[in-house]
Amino acid sequence: MHHDESITTLPGVGGKMAEKLQLLGIRTICDLWFHLPIRYENHTKITPSAAANPNENVIILGLITSVSSRATRNGTMLECQLRENGSCSPIKAVFWHLYPNQIREFKTGKYLLCYGQVNRDTFGCSMSHPDYEILSNISEISLPDHLTPIYSTTKGITSEKIQKIADKALQLMSAQDPEELLPAGENITISLQDALKKIHHPPIDADLNQLQEHTSPEQRRLILEELTANTLSVYTARTAVKKHAAIPLISKGILQQALLSSLKFTPTGAQMRVTREICNDLAGNTPMLRLLQGDVGSGKTLVAALTALCALECGYQVALMAPTEILATQHYTKLNELFGNLGISVTLLVGKLKAREKKTIQEQIALGNAKLVIGTHALFQDQVVFKNLAYVIIDEQHRFGVEQRYKLLMKGSCNAVYPHQLVMTATPIPRTLAMTSYADLNVSTIDELPPGRKPITTKIITSNARDKLLQRIHEVCTQKHWQVYWVCSLIEESEVLDCAAAEKECNELSNALPDLSIGLVHGRMTAHDKQAVMDKFKNGEVDVLVATTVIEVGVDVPNANIIIIEDPERLGLAQLHQLRGRVGRGQEQAFCILFTTGPISTQGRERLEFLSNNHNGLKIAEKDLEIRGPGEYLGTKQTGVAAMKIADLLRDQYLVPEANRLAQDIATNRPDLVPKLIARWINSNEAFTHA
Ligand code: ADP
Ligand code: MG
Repeated sequence: MHHDESITTLPGVGGKMAEKLQLLGIRTICDLWFHLPIRYENHTKITPSAAANPNENVIILGLITSVSSRATRNGTMLECQLRENGSCSPIKAVFWHLYPNQIREFKTGKYLLCYGQVNRDTFGCSMSHPDYEILSNISEISLPDHLTPIYSTTKGITSEKIQKIADKALQLMSAQDPEELLPAGENITISLQDALKKIHHPPIDADLNQLQEHTSPEQRRLILEELTANTLSVYTARTAVKKHAAIPLISKGILQQALLSSLKFTPTGAQMRVTREICNDLAGNTPMLRLLQGDVGSGKTLVAALTALCALECGYQVALMAPTEILATQHYTKLNELFGNLGISVTLLVGKLKAREKKTIQEQIALGNAKLVIGTHALFQDQVVFKNLAYVIIDEQHRFGVEQRYKLLMKGSCNAVYPHQLVMTATPIPRTLAMTSYADLNVSTIDELPPGRKPITTKIITSNARDKLLQRIHEVCTQKHWQVYWVCSLIEESEVLDCAAAEKECNELSNALPDLSIGLVHGRMTAHDKQAVMDKFKNGEVDVLVATTVIEVGVDVPNANIIIIEDPERLGLAQLHQLRGRVGRGQEQAFCILFTTGPISTQGRERLEFLSNNHNGLKIAEKDLEIRGPGEYLGTKQTGVAAMKIADLLRDQYLVPEANRLAQDIATNRPDLVPKLIARWINSNEAFTHA
């Protein structure tokens, strides 16, 4: 079998080249087979410039009739006039940034072969810095007899080089290698090998448009295989978990009843429905894997509390994991309030505790005296050992990849008994993702907000209106005693700069609004200091809270009715929607001000307008996914989604249902193919075969 052999066995690939190829994830012959072109060019024929369509890349050939160059600010610019065969109007080729030795090559009487777009204006036809080749004689022309694939490259390797070695690798295919892994069927009419050959080496008459759009039958064949492999990988992980035992949590609902009758409000129908769905799963003897999605403010905390009571009533421990210490602390306060009369102890385990306190708490957890334990991911560090953990609730801010979900599940396991797992998210999972990277989870949706919530009025304001804005803030804080969030958006690369920007804003606001109390909270403050400021804001001692985006999501301060988001164009729509959800939790009409301080693009503006006009979290999430792509959207590029070889979840979503059917079919009828498909398509550190 050739496929495991190192690429260094190919002629022309030495150690240096191999190192560079490794950066592209190419180590073996097989990796080369599956390093697929990202687009194509047509270099097979010469087109007279007069016949070229606008925006189409073509090859033209002309005799150089004059050359002129002159120095510009950016280097040397070279212009040459070309005469094409059979044409009397000349075409001009213009180049920038040529090296002197390149410039010397341009001589009248030589021929120039150019690849690029032909521009037409009142001065005639021209090409701007096309790819080119200089020839002394027309007989030297040799055009390829196939379309040219363009590969993703890295420093020191050209696409041409990859094309050459990929061609050599293709010649090493044999009857069994690479193996055909999809059973022939009505949608699988092209063999894997034919598909690979055509994709790397499309014939002269192949449909270029189809290839560029990734809809050629050969590309679809491979995309389908990759999507199927992805589904199988998620499905395998899930099946493995389902083979494990979990503790069936069958409660009489006594504690739930007690909690419900102590509430000051009536839960919504949706809250009660999802609670039943979750409790049904909890009563099963295999681990629950469920996603609870509900827009900001839909009341997920109550659902977490009600379902936790199932486990608590049965005498088991529950862990609730929040993304930050502030949120963990807030959950702790809230649940203490809710469980106060039920005689259930709630424990908070966070980094800011003193070592001695931590130790005591860990002991209580190990003894099983701490029943409901709330914390950040520190909860799943090795020092923390639960006595009988049966249910893990994860309040998710940043998306976890499938892998991380299983890691958590495993950490909570004890004697091959796994806890049930609920993942709560305020950003709904768009359909495409729900069918792929989240396909391992059952989904419950709270599709109803508590009554009386008004949509938040969202306005885009530019820095010209800053004074007016400050005046208005002053007014509402002093007259209505409202509170205000002022969010300085994250420049991801630099937390230091971010915090500096927040500090500066805090100073400016303090100067401009001397009779208001301005608080500041950012990522570089100690947990203790952050908490102190948050507490002051909650108590109403701080009027305006200046914050960076890292800490805030999920905090609940009903008296805060205005949120100002500075430079909102830097953030994703879903994140903006979450931030906006910090306000509008009380009875008053709430406002979200998108405050732009610099120039923003038309596109950026359109996105902000979309947010102003839409309040449905799912719609916003789908738009966000469309704009940013799955890798960015999921907040982690290592989710396996972004790392696909040929498929693109957005572009190819129409194939997802078919891939799911195929996966089902293979899992049932050809289980022997499953590990092979996963091994071929899924990076080993993203595969979950171990689960
Ligand atoms: P999220 O889903 O964003 O986590 P929370 O659980 O923080 O939302 O709930 C938001 C606010 O709504 C809280 O103050 C909570 O007490 C309140 N709340 C939850 N459910 C209801 C309801 N059915 N009726 C009225 N208020 C509710
Ligand atoms: Mg919440």
